[in-house]
Formats: sequence, structure tokens, C-alpha cells
Amino acid sequence: MRAPAACTGSTGRIITVSVSSEPLSPYRRVTVVGSGVIGTSWAGLFLARGLEVTVNDPVPDAEERVRVGLEEILPTLEGLGLPTAGLTDRLRFEAELAAAVADADVVQENGPERLDLKQQIWTTIEQSAPDHCLLATSTSGIPATDIAQAMRHPERLVVGHPFNPPHLLPLVEVVPGERTSAETVQRARDFYTAMGKKPQVLRKEVPGFVANRLQAALFRECVHLVVEGVVTESELDEIVTSSIGLRWAVGGPFRTFHLGGGSGGLPQFLQHLGPALEGLWQRLGSASLDARTVELLVRQAQEAFGDRSVDALAAERDRAQIAVLKALGESPTAGA
Ligand code: NAD
Repeated sequence: MRAPAACTGSTGRIITVSVSSEPLSPYRRVTVVGSGVIGTSWAGLFLARGLEVTVNDPVPDAEERVRVGLEEILPTLEGLGLPTAGLTDRLRFEAELAAAVADADVVQENGPERLDLKQQIWTTIEQSAPDHCLLATSTSGIPATDIAQAMRHPERLVVGHPFNPPHLLPLVEVVPGERTSAETVQRARDFYTAMGKKPQVLRKEVPGFVANRLQAALFRECVHLVVEGVVTESELDEIVTSSIGLRWAVGGPFRTFHLGGGSGGLPQFLQHLGPALEGLWQRLGSASLDARTVELLVRQAQEAFGDRSVDALAAERDRAQIAVLKALGESPTAGA
């Protein structure tokens, strides 16, 4: 049974969540194409949400890799309150792409980030998947317009770009290509919502979409400040997590500046601090990832985080992330 639960997040939004493992019809069978970092994560989420999952990946050790990967994300799925008993009972592997998608209701493709390969994969998928099947690619930046160039029905393909890892972070950027139909966009939005995600439909196709453009812009300045010796990596991380990181988890940049303007809101903020902000834009740094910069960044990362394994750090991050999601009323079980 589905058990909807309404709660009020700290930002005042009413959030309705479902704690059921029963999938919303008509999405029962999903095929995950490409089972690396993102494919395995999606597979874990889809299984925990009650779907039947078929994994397709040409590498011979795909099954072993996915099973190990699912074991690793189990604590996070449990931390989110998702059911994990018998998680892999509805999991199967099919190395031949056409057979893997033959009875799918949804295909989520997570192959390598290469246009030629994605075009080739999608040509096969559209020939073999049922007509009703929702077709989505996790690409981080290749427009659906380009991927769908060789497709007979480009209106069926949409970008469903998750923020890594998809089993944990809510955002999925739904990015239609020039020929993606409105119906496909709506179905993608419905599907990701049913999976407990927060889909955001972009109004225009831009390289890198939105979340990664923002990360890239901020990270350019981060690298610049470290290269210039203003702060070290760990000092910069501390600055972010104790200021804008906390703020943005709650409000986002625009809401934050609206509140930064006092009772006059954003208009007052822009009038008061806008000129200084604009002046600073002219003075922001640039950065490149040349050999010297990379050497510096790697050395500082080793000094700052090198005493612990990446797995241990990731587990600690995921526990903290779940706590934040719960505090904001945004985890599957919050308010239930
Ligand atoms: P990855 O290298 O970990 O996984 C890619 C997988 O595709 C591998 O398992 C590989 O064996 C498989 N593969 C290779 N050829 C294939 C084929 N012909 N058919 C099916 N599978 C094939 O990469 P990843 O980080 O999981 O990224 C996958 C996709 O997700 C990319 O499009 C990427 O841009 C996107 N994405 C990545 C992130 C991220 O942070 N890693 C975030 C969001 C989206």
C-alpha cells in the first residue's frame, strides 16, 4: 500500500512523500543501460522503490560490480527509510541491449559521456523498446537534441540528469531537446516524482544544464583562490560549509539575497549591494587545470583528506546528508 505523508519543510513548502515500495503504474519495469557510478545508483533507487530492474552493460564483470555497488549503498537507502529487504530479488542482467529493453516501461541510460556512443545506444533502444516506454538519458551535458539526431522518434527522448548520487540527492534536471514532446517531458516529471525525486524541467537546452554550470562557476573561483594562496583547500571547504552551504540548503541564492535586503527584499538588496557585487564580478579570477595547478590541488587534497579512505569519507558525508534532508523534511520518511 502507498502511504502518502504530508509535512512542512523548513522553507515552509508542503512536501508530500510516499514511503511505499510499490511503484506507481505504469512504471513497473525499468532498464538501466550502463552500470557504472550512476547506473548502479539508479538501479539501487529503482529497486528500493519497488521496480523490476534489468541492467545492461557490455563489460563481463558488470553483474559482480553492480551487486557489490548495491551492497555499498544499502546503508544509505536504509538511512533514507527505503525498504531494502530482498532488494535484488527483482534485479536481472541482460548483456544484449535489444533484449534488455524489449519489455521496459522506462529506460534510464547511463553509458559513457560520448556523443557517438550514446547515439548508437539510443538507435538500438528505440528500435527495440515498446512504444509506450519512457526514454531518458542521464547525460551530464550532451543535449538530447544531439543524442536524438539519428533517432526516428526524437520526441521520445529526454534528458533526466541526476545529481550524483541519484539514490540520495533529490534533483533530476529534466531537459527536453528541440524535438522532445511535451508528453515525454510530463511523463519524465511524473516518473521521477514517483521515485521520490525533485525533477526540475529546464526551459532551454544549455551546455552543462544548470546545477553543473553553477558548480563549475563556483569551482573556478575556488581553484583561483587556492592557486593564489588566499586559502588552502580545507580552509575554503570550511568557509563554504559554515556559510553559503548551510544557507543554500535552505534557501538558494535568490531567496538568500531577497532576505539579505532586509524588509525591502531583493530590490533593496540590489540597490544597496548590487554595485559592489557587480564590481566584484569584474574582479573574479580565472583558472585552468594545467599540470602545476593539478599538482597543487592533488597535494593539498592529500594533506587535507588523505588520512582516510574515500569510502569512509563518502559514508560520513551520506550520513550527514541524510540528516540534512530529514531536517528539511525532504527524505522519503520525513514526517511519515
Ligand atoms: P561510468 O564510467 O562509471 O559508467 C559508464 C558505464 O557504461 C560503464 O559501466 C561501462 O561499462 C558502460 N558502458 C560502456 N559502453 C556501453 C554500452 N555500449 N552500452 C551500455 N553500457 C556501456 O560513468 P558514470 O559516471 O556512471 O556516468 C554515466 C553517465 O551519467 C554519463 O552520461 C555521465 O555524464 C552521467 N552522469 C554522471 C555523473 C557523475 O557524477 N558521475 C552525474 C550525473 C550524470
